[in-house]
Amino acid sequence: MAAGSLVRKDVPEYAIVAGNPARIIGWMCRCGGRLSFADGKTAVCPACRLGYTKDGDTVGSAA
Ligand SMILES: [Zn+2]
Repeated sequence: MAAGSLVRKDVPEYAIVAGNPARIIGWMCRCGGRLSFADGKTAVCPACRLGYTKDGDTVGSAA
């Protein structure tokens, strides 16, 4: 892999990834707030109150 290359394939929207290979370590709102899927399915951004739903590794905003 070339230095500085950014591999974004297989990284779901809103996912926070780390490591190589990339691993999902968390989820982030479009505003940058950290999302916590306490029940595994829904989260509300603590910063902007936007709701999100999660299905497997797919997260979408409710709005
Ligand atoms: Zn937010």
